[in-house]
Amino acid sequence: MISEEKARQDIRELLEFIGEDPNREGLKETPDRMLRMFKEMFRGYNEQEKPVITTFPNGQDGIIYDNMVVDTGTFYSVCEHHCRTFFGEYWFAYIPNPKGRILGLSKIGRTVDYCAARLQVQERLVFDVVHMLTEALGTEHPPLGMALMMKGRHMCKESRGVKKGGTMTSTYLTGAFRKSAQVRNEFLAYVKE
Ligand SMILES: [Zn+2]
Repeated sequence: MISEEKARQDIRELLEFIGEDPNREGLKETPDRMLRMFKEMFRGYNEQEKPVITTFPNGQDGIIYDNMVVDTGTFYSVCEHHCRTFFGEYWFAYIPNPKGRILGLSKIGRTVDYCAARLQVQERLVFDVVHMLTEALGTEHPPLGMALMMKGRHMCKESRGVKKGGTMTSTYLTGAFRKSAQVRNEFLAYVKE
């Protein structure tokens, strides 16, 4: 673990490397601002920031739910190859186990945010989120399946290099979503182009 002072100095040197004067007025506080920003953007390395994923016993209100639950939202992450932002939308779905537990809806977005707050590749991000949510539901009566699709715009591709727009899609499927084309197609019907 390097000290904040060392990190601050390294950022100053990086500013010099790109041709800047780190002592000029507008840049004086920039290393400190960047360090504070990094703490927020990369809190996904900090176990203490890990969201507590609330779950409820299926059927506690008299209804046993065993249909597909779908949640959508946005995500922001940073690519590990160029340290550039990638961001976009996600579609998450799962089928609760009738004997198992169901997820608190807001926890899906919080899990996406936590796993995205690291240097990532989009392929691993979908896996990390599904893994963490599956773990939260327990192994005794695991969910019947989970699916996560992300469509992301990658600034390392759009604003530099080949400079091409467009989205990248990554998907991770488990259980019924992997085994049954019918279940998979029901999920894909929720995913709007
Ligand atoms: Zn990249």
